[in-house]
Amino acid sequence: MNDVRAKRIANFIEPLRVEPGSKVRLAKDFDPAFKAGVTKKRDGRELLRTGVELLAEYQRRLAAENTRGVLLCLQALDAGGKDGTIRHVMSGVNPQGVKVSSFKVPSAEELDHDYLWRYACRLPARGEIGIFNRSHYEEVLVVRVHPENLDRQRLPGASAGKNLWARRFREINDWERYLTDNGFSVVKLFLNLSWEEQRARFLRRIDVPDRNWKFSAADIRERRFWKDYQHAFSEMLSATSKPWAPWYVIPADRKWFARLCAGAVLAHTLMELDPQYPRVSDEARDELSKARAELEAEEQPPTTAGGSRRA
Ligand code: AMP
Ligand code: MG
Repeated sequence: MNDVRAKRIANFIEPLRVEPGSKVRLAKDFDPAFKAGVTKKRDGRELLRTGVELLAEYQRRLAAENTRGVLLCLQALDAGGKDGTIRHVMSGVNPQGVKVSSFKVPSAEELDHDYLWRYACRLPARGEIGIFNRSHYEEVLVVRVHPENLDRQRLPGASAGKNLWARRFREINDWERYLTDNGFSVVKLFLNLSWEEQRARFLRRIDVPDRNWKFSAADIRERRFWKDYQHAFSEMLSATSKPWAPWYVIPADRKWFARLCAGAVLAHTLMELDPQYPRVSDEARDELSKARAELEAEEQPPTTAGGSRRA
């Protein structure tokens, strides 16, 4: 039964995975409006609900096992749906086991360090799911599209040379390899939004008063760099989808479908890890039996505080 479910999820997410070593051209290779075999929103929501329950159970096991951790990286253009994806996909999960970190324009302190430092500071611990709302990939996206960000990083001459992006890709791949080798799975989701749908979402943010707070004039300025971003995304996907940490391109034009896909990729990762509740030793089991016998033999609360201790 479980195997059937695992297989179904694996098949569902397969077309979303960026084959390691392949050369991606985003506009040509991935359709933001793709919705696999699920055509009805209602079916999609139902499936997501099942997925959310599944995630809750696996997250409990991950926390109890306390040996492995999961890092989920979310990248998207503005209005791509990162916040809503986190809200829905993690809705059933115990908040104690999840740590969400959002990355904004780096602070002065962050700029005083190497570029991966601030991301390393927010990594999940064993037993935890860490979510990066934007991630270390901004270092080859917004920083690449707007080189003035790079000037602020004050790289010394030799490290700012012309192979900078190739080098960053290698460093990121090595870092993720290091993390996976040490028990932390790295799951990478790119929410792929179309030009038209981004426009529609911005208009909604302008027209609906309760959404005004989500809109910033900077979003329109960034939209002018659409082509540069598409290029940067394509290069990133081609260079950093690796067997130990592949990218998944999530069709993001329909929010319900994007959430379903994101939940499925995370569920797939956890099912592969298959964390187990720890089994207690024979000795500990004897202790449990003794404790049970003592509890069963109890008749009344003790008359003196703490047994032999005085209050
Ligand atoms: P938001 O996620 O809408 O709150 O916006 C965060 C902003 O921070 C976006 O405009 C990102 O482009 C920007 N940002 C995130 N990481 C970096 C970075 N490493 N360097 C420069 N800007 C960044
Ligand atoms: Mg924004």
